[in-house]
Parts: sequence; C-alpha cells; structure tokens
Amino acid sequence: MTLPVVAVVGRPNVGKSTLFNRVIGRRLAIVDDQPGVTRDRNFSPADWAGRHFYIVDTGGVIEDSDRPMDRLVREQAEVAIREADVLVLVTDGKEGLHPLDQKVAEMLRSSGKPVVLAVNKMDNLPRDPAHHEFWELGLGEPHAVSAGSGKGSGDLLDRIVELLPAADALPDDPTQIRVAVVGKPNVGKSSLVNRLFGEERVVVSDEAGTTRDPVDSTMAYHGRNLVFVDTAGLRRQAKVKEDLEYYSYVRTERVVRDADVCLMLIDGTQGISHQDLRIMEQAWEAGAGVVLVVNKWDLVEKDGFTADLMVKAMRERTPFLQWVPVLFASALTGQRVRKALDMVLEAEAQRQRRIDTSDVNDVLQRLVGRQPPPHSRGRPVKIRYGTQVRVAPPTFVLFSNLPREVPAHYLRYIHNGFRDAWEFTGTPIRIFFRESN
Ligand code: GDP
Ligand code: GDP
Repeated sequence: MTLPVVAVVGRPNVGKSTLFNRVIGRRLAIVDDQPGVTRDRNFSPADWAGRHFYIVDTGGVIEDSDRPMDRLVREQAEVAIREADVLVLVTDGKEGLHPLDQKVAEMLRSSGKPVVLAVNKMDNLPRDPAHHEFWELGLGEPHAVSAGSGKGSGDLLDRIVELLPAADALPDDPTQIRVAVVGKPNVGKSSLVNRLFGEERVVVSDEAGTTRDPVDSTMAYHGRNLVFVDTAGLRRQAKVKEDLEYYSYVRTERVVRDADVCLMLIDGTQGISHQDLRIMEQAWEAGAGVVLVVNKWDLVEKDGFTADLMVKAMRERTPFLQWVPVLFASALTGQRVRKALDMVLEAEAQRQRRIDTSDVNDVLQRLVGRQPPPHSRGRPVKIRYGTQVRVAPPTFVLFSNLPREVPAHYLRYIHNGFRDAWEFTGTPIRIFFRESN
C-alpha cells in the first residue's frame, strides 16, 4: 500500500522544519514504541484523524547554500509538485508577504494539485489579523498557525487531511482482473456465469440466518483472481420483466466503468445487432478490454466455414472489431466457456503492455516518413516524438508543433500503424497529441 505524500514548501526560516517536527511529533507520541519505523529529518510517516500519510520537508531535501535563494525555493517547489499529493506553502506572518511567496504560490497554483496555505509565527492567535493579507496569494484561506507553540496546527492538519486522495483510490490488487459480462437481454449472460461458477450459488454471510446474493463473484484462474462484477445484477435482470432493455443499458454503463475486460455476448442465431455494437463501443470507449463471445453456437446450423464467414462479415461492417478476438461458444453445453477465460487473460495482458520509447519512435518515424501530416493553412505540421505514458489501456502521447492541427484521418492512420506494429488484440489504445517546439 502506498501512502499519500504531503510536502511542505516555502522560503528559508519561515518555520517549515518546526512545523514538520510538530506534525511528526504528534505521531511519535502515539507510535514511539513501534519498532522498525524509520524516520529521518526530511521524510516521515505521520497521521492525523485516522489518516496516514508521509510528510516531506522540501527545505531539508534541497540544501545548497551556493545557489541563490530564489533558485533554491523554486527547486523545492518543483520537487514537491512532482512528488506530493498535497502541497503546503508555509509563509511568515510576522514578516508579512514576500515577493518570493508570490512566485512560489504561482507555481503551486498552476500545478493543479491541492494546496494549503499556512501563515506561521502567528503567536498571538486569534488576536493578530496579519494572516489576512495572504489572501492575495490566490491560494484560498490562509491558515494561521504558530508552529512554535502548536496553536492552529490542528486546524491546518484537518484541512490537509481533507485534501488527501480518497483511501479507496489506492492501487488495485495486481493479481485481480475485473470482468464484466455484458450483452443484450437473453443472449445467455446469466447462463454463462452460472456455468462458470456452478448453478444457484448462494453465499451465506457472517450474520447467522441471513443469506444474500454476492455482488461480485471471484474465481482463481491461472494465478489470477477473476472478479466477475455485478453477478447479482444479472440475477436481478432475470427477474425484471419490463424495461429490460433500459435496465441492461444502465447496468452496462455502470459495469463497464468498473471492469478491466468485458466479455461481450451475442446470440449466434441472430447475428450482431446495432445494440450489440453500441454496448461494445461503450466498453471500448471506457478503456476496457473486450472479448466477443458468439453464444448459443449449439443452435447454429453450420459447416466448417460458418464461423470464419461470420467473423469476416462482422469485421467488414464494423472496423474496430478487427481488434476484438471472437469466440464461438455455448453456455448451455459448456462448449469453449473455459476458453473465454484464457481470452480474458490475454486481453488484459495486452491492455497492460508497455512499448519501449525507442520502438514507439521507430514506428512513428516510419509512419511519418511514409506519409507526413498535411500542412495546416500553409504551415507544416511536424510530429517529433512519441512515448507511451500509461497502460490499461495503452496510451501514447505524440509531440507536435501544431497538435490541434492534426486531422482525424491522420490520427486514424497513426492508430492503424500502431496496430499493425503491435496489434494490441482485445484492448483499446489511446493516442493524444501535445505541443512541443
Ligand atoms: P525553515 O528553515 O523554514 O524550516 O524554518 P525553521 O523551522 O528552521 O524555523 C526558522 C526560525 O523560526 C527558527 O528560529 C524557529 O524557532 C522560528 N519559528 C518557527 N516557528 C515559529 C513560530 O510559530 N513562532 C515564532 N515566533 N517563531 C517560530
Ligand atoms: P441473459 O438475459 O443474457 O442473462 O440470458 P440467460 O442466461 O437468461 O439466457 C436466456 C435464454 O437462453 C435461457 O433460456 C437460456 O437457457 C438460453 N441459453 C443461454 N445460453 C445458451 C446456449 O449457449 N445455447 C442455447 N441453446 N440456449 C442458451
């Protein structure tokens, strides 16, 4: 589990380390007897109101008296902006507003991260109104404190803790893959889930005498935990007679956002419908992997070519299906339902793939060399460099002199080129342009 980071920044001598020690001092009073807690002067675990976090004194991180103060303070702020979840700007209420406070405040503001403004050395709280002039920094309410005596530091910590990222925003269990089974009513979603888990599974909760439907059902498979999200919703759907279409639309909206991979079911006796495509696009646009299961295959009259022809016809109709793996299965007989799980693992592996920056640029240079972007109002549009910035789904940023002038068809060309190079079967990919000169 990674703890959020709170960084303290500000000019020298405003009282950063005094404040830092006060914050960790409170913690020490509680956990002093815990062995193995490493602590150093500049970086320490802390807690307040039940929330745990790290606090960093950037003034202690960057110490180099050879450089001008202005540079030092800016560098501190840069480190803090890069590393921290919440930024605390400490100022000196005795001395009043300083031009350097303005500069740092501007940097912090433009970082977009939450900032708390502390006005320290307010030893005569609450009588002294000196902190009011710090409203001018545009960082919201100035919090008057006296780090020396501790006055006001509780309120300051309350505010800091309020701004910490939600505890449930912590990283997921890496062994877990969240799977949503989606598709129109009656295509066989509940049958598939029941087949995978065994019919009529009921979970008995800890309280004696109560039984309830589990919201999600988990299955261990090849070292991964497959969590089938909202399996209770599938049961509910079976009971809802009217408004089934609407119900399934709302359910899909919700579950695709919560899923890593969607198992999209269609009815093999009916072929793919407009609504099927809409559901699949919902999942794709939400960044989930997609595996298409053509269900009820037991009912389809077929020869050795039927499956291939069907895939070909679907892909001609809907280009993005080129990137979606297709499986023919029967939830009724159990034919190939386990294979669907293998395909989920593979789609998630593709979704987690990282391409080296050098490979990205090799492919990009080749594509741009073969077909450069069209000029925009007489100006050449250049694409200089690209890199993968995240996974799940794989997301690329390409740097251009005129990022807003790259036309949609050219983006499609790059997208198709990336697909030719790396395929990414079963996962959407994203490509963004950013400005660089
Ligand atoms: P930093 O260099 O910005 O980390 O600041 P320090 O924590 O070293 O504090 C600088 C000076 O301000 C020290 O002499 C502290 O004792 C003093 N100081 C810190 N907090 C307060 C306070 O709340 N009131 C007063 N009067 N002095 C303080
Ligand atoms: P859901 O609404 O998508 O959850 O669909 P259900 O799982 O409730 O299935 C709807 C109907 O199709 C039920 O009568 C199932 O028995 C039937 N069904 C589901 N899968 C198959 C299959 O692979 N083959 C056949 N023949 N029938 C199926």
